[in-house]
Amino acid sequence: MSTYWTERAKTGKSRCSYGSCATLIAKGEIRIGRTYRSHPSRFWLKTDWYHVDCFVMMEKEFIERMVKQAREMANIMETKGGVYD
Ligand SMILES: [Zn+2]
Repeated sequence: MSTYWTERAKTGKSRCSYGSCATLIAKGEIRIGRTYRSHPSRFWLKTDWYHVDCFVMMEKEFIERMVKQAREMANIMETKGGVYD
């Protein structure tokens, strides 16, 4: 379970967690935080920070990946003739 929020960066020290960006987020810039439990059996929480544009890119890639998987799965099922019979 993740919690998301937006805020202005309090310092310029946090790094964007979007893989192909990974640059520092400037102080005062609007950033999106995702807070989640770093390990299921542990209590402490971890926050990843993203530039707004990077967050959009990441979500876009995630959606595309899911849609691709869903389509591939549909194709397999179609080939097997199980689902649409
Ligand atoms: Zn970024």
